[in-house]
Amino acid sequence: MRFFFIGTGAAFTMADDNFQSNAILESEAGERLLIDCGTDARRALKAAGLGRGDVSAVYISHLHGDHVGGLEWLGFTTYFCPDTARLPLYIHEGLVDALWHNSLKAGMEVLDYGYGHLGDFFDVRPLPADGGFVFGGLRLGLVPLLHIHSGEAVMRSYGLMMEAPIGRVLFTSDCLHQPETLMPAYRAAHLIFHDCDTGPHCGGVHAHYRDLRTLPADVKAKMWLYHYPDGPLPDARADGFRGFVRPGQVFELGAVPEEGGLAGLAD
Ligand SMILES: [Zn+2]
Repeated sequence: MRFFFIGTGAAFTMADDNFQSNAILESEAGERLLIDCGTDARRALKAAGLGRGDVSAVYISHLHGDHVGGLEWLGFTTYFCPDTARLPLYIHEGLVDALWHNSLKAGMEVLDYGYGHLGDFFDVRPLPADGGFVFGGLRLGLVPLLHIHSGEAVMRSYGLMMEAPIGRVLFTSDCLHQPETLMPAYRAAHLIFHDCDTGPHCGGVHAHYRDLRTLPADVKAKMWLYHYPDGPLPDARADGFRGFVRPGQVFELGAVPEEGGLAGLAD
């Protein structure tokens, strides 16, 4: 299994050499799980030498545009391609209605046969917060995290814990700094990919480098940082991290035993 980002930038990146933070988990058989599909996704895939037909399934962590804004493209190009089956779309069960009604319906509802719905475009696989799924023989469990918490307004994002042959790999998705919640996952993980803002302000949306720098040395030593804004970056290695991930940087997660392959819900 291989894991890489087609973009490692923040939502509004305009960098010539980067895109929004979306990632790919690639199986031994060449199946690819697209982890989030933002507005940059089609360009980011192209820059990575991939196209829509190279995506086997999609996971959505939360409903910000840099994570779902490319689903209209992906859904329509699949729908109008007669040889292509609907892609499995794994998503927390509490986000399914909002994804359709609040993010996609206005542009996708009217179809050539009448009114459509999300199931016309994707094979929707709703997941409970404590659930997961199997892709390429590798189990991925949801990690519910706070992304925005402002008074009564709460937005969650669902990271992933991948049970990889090299050990557990934690992908946080977008999240606030929340060491109390995340420490057990930090400790259990062999490798960590963590949301990291490096901007001048702590906006209450993303974990900030200043806060992540205070984590224990053994946690930082297995942590890669992504979802950073354009511009100069701090010396993360000097501060004890693995570093900032670059787009296309490949992480080998080890070989999954033979019976793998694209599978459905594990639980
Ligand atoms: Zn977000």
